[in-house]
Amino acid sequence: MGIQEELRKLPSVDRLLQHEAVAALVERWGHELTVEAAREVLDAVREAVREGDPCPATDVLARRVGERLAAYLRPTLRPAINATGVIIHTNLGRAPLSVEARAAMDAVALGYSNLEYDLEAGSRGSRYVHAEELLCRLTGADAALVVNNNAAAVLLILMALARDREVILSRGQLVEIGGGFRIPDVMRQSGARLVEVGTTNRTYVGDYESAITEGTVALMRVHRSNFRLMGFVHEPELSDMVALADERGLLVLDDLGSGTLLDTRPYGLAHEPTIQESVTAGASLVSCSGDKLLGGPQAGIILGRADLIAHLKRFPLTRALRVDKTTLAGLQATLRHYLLGEATEKVPVWRMIGQSQDVLEARAHNWIAELSQRDVPASVVAGQSTVGGGSLPGETLSTHLVALKVDSPEDTAGRLRAGEPPVIARIEDGRLLLDPRTVLPEQEMTLWELVARATG
Ligand SMILES: *Cc1c(COP(=O)(O)O)cnc(C)c1O
Repeated sequence: MGIQEELRKLPSVDRLLQHEAVAALVERWGHELTVEAAREVLDAVREAVREGDPCPATDVLARRVGERLAAYLRPTLRPAINATGVIIHTNLGRAPLSVEARAAMDAVALGYSNLEYDLEAGSRGSRYVHAEELLCRLTGADAALVVNNNAAAVLLILMALARDREVILSRGQLVEIGGGFRIPDVMRQSGARLVEVGTTNRTYVGDYESAITEGTVALMRVHRSNFRLMGFVHEPELSDMVALADERGLLVLDDLGSGTLLDTRPYGLAHEPTIQESVTAGASLVSCSGDKLLGGPQAGIILGRADLIAHLKRFPLTRALRVDKTTLAGLQATLRHYLLGEATEKVPVWRMIGQSQDVLEARAHNWIAELSQRDVPASVVAGQSTVGGGSLPGETLSTHLVALKVDSPEDTAGRLRAGEPPVIARIEDGRLLLDPRTVLPEQEMTLWELVARATG
């Protein structure tokens, strides 16, 4: 009875469109979209009324139509503020780019470019020349190729060079990187035959040597990106693997994962293998990501022997893994920072890694002061940031965290995530924490306002 009465109160789409606020929406969004939104709102309300809800006032329905229209336009991919203290956060888009990298991407995105055009000859060129020279100069490699990401790089290398052949890999390196990228699966998918040697904790050059057969094409090394082996462990040096491979006419494939051009040790971190070290050790092909410790856009970078790179460039799959012009522009601009020796000042990932304790402490105290002016009680506590992104597992950097005094950290964290832009915080031991290290200075003011709104 009551339900039928409530349903009768529901306006028709036409009547709702005549409401003053909805008529204004028609002006702004057009008739068709507004009708669609009105229908969706009325359908949802009808459903709710049937469940026993009262019919909302027409003003409320009009407002919901407006909200629905706004939702149509709201991008699902939006900028966010990373207050987690995880510098290379894969779920939050990995490396933020330098001002110069963004400008370079913008410049080629806004118009045409010589992406595949040889300006000297006035004819077709290759997109693969663009970052190659810089990469070779920085690493000492003979040749280079940039593809969509490092997963693509590994798959391409194995498919192009090891299909139906044997690739020898230590049992200590049969890793899952995340997102279902498991080395044994990738190997199978590529058509290469995986030959496991050694044990989980110890593998010797002799293990590789005794596994070599007529069908062997390569020895492979995979960086254990996201966990650490400790204790009674052994792995041969890359140069020892190269010596064996050279002797037997085999390739050495080195998946570095993150890859870095800079030494991590001056920052109090463990040693992350550098790209230059792998090239110098004589790996036939080295692959790494563009958006991990390199601090550039998403890309897979392959470096090594010129004949092998030439073969990869001609391999049909390469076309399916090719990079976009904006990626190449951003990568070039990022690499230029390294060549100029300014990467630690310009590349955000390295600025964050290199931020001093004094600066972090001063920022945290400044946040407390700013938050207190907005009636948000908070305190500074000592804590740790991590590098993340499949590099330096288990390694941390000391930091100064801002702990918000709230009743329910989960609820407040949820409200922070619902902000515009969303703020991603960290909950640890029941405390809601913000790490200034991963918050860009130009985002600070916005962050304080959003925190005030989420806690107020
Ligand atoms: C991260 C990683 C990959 C995948 O690289 P993407 O650039 O994310 O595709 C592959 N191998 C290793 C060892 C990694 O750490």
